[in-house]
Amino acid sequence: MKPLIIANWKMNKSVAESVSFVNQIIDPLSKINSVTTVICPPFTCLSELSRLITDTNIKLGAQNVYFEVDGAYTGEISISMLKELCSYVIVGHSERRILFKENDLTINMKLRSVINNGLNPIICVGESIESRTKGDANQVIGEQITKGLENVASLDNLIIAYEPIWAIGTGESASSEIAQEMSLTIRNKINELYGIISQKIPILYGGSVKSENIKDFISQDDINGALVGSASLDPKSFVAIVSESQI
Ligand code: PEP
Repeated sequence: MKPLIIANWKMNKSVAESVSFVNQIIDPLSKINSVTTVICPPFTCLSELSRLITDTNIKLGAQNVYFEVDGAYTGEISISMLKELCSYVIVGHSERRILFKENDLTINMKLRSVINNGLNPIICVGESIESRTKGDANQVIGEQITKGLENVASLDNLIIAYEPIWAIGTGESASSEIAQEMSLTIRNKINELYGIISQKIPILYGGSVKSENIKDFISQDDINGALVGSASLDPKSFVAIVSESQI
């Protein structure tokens, strides 16, 4: 499977800063065609960046979406709006689950909206440190997968990111052994629910990935790429991660 590196900029960068960033990575990334690279900037940058990345090998994604098509939902963005601008959408990031009280039901509705509109959803799953300490990590992940993927029309474009909450933004990544073990748990759960398609679904690791540790993750049997937060904000560091992901 072609490695997939996705930048999650979260609530960082103005339009001008995002343009400057992309201008700095277009050339170095043009030489790396064996890795799929996706940038997920704030909504405000999507329009400008969608023009800038035309004719490059960089793809664009959004960090969130609302599941309704249109209407009186002040402050929300629908999939039909995103469709014009990008091809990937992150759903269920732990920051949205925790800070904005998203649950498996709303995440499932968002996921179905993305899939029904032909975009590529990246669904994030991951356990808290409390769940891991109690020995409940596998159960938590199993439940997030089961409920998150319920009644989806197709798994063809699905991407899963295993992001243990305790490793996000902490500088302390999971060990590659834990990341592999949990990615296999995810693949086995999808196999149990939906069969052999589980082998074709890219599973990414996310949590304090940097150029120094990406190879440890990408070389694992069931890890097909990474979702990168902090280390994706600097163009040199991001290009180094993509470069190290060539296998
Ligand atoms: C993330 O928030 O998706 C993430 C992986 O962040 P970081 O790389 O900063 O841990």
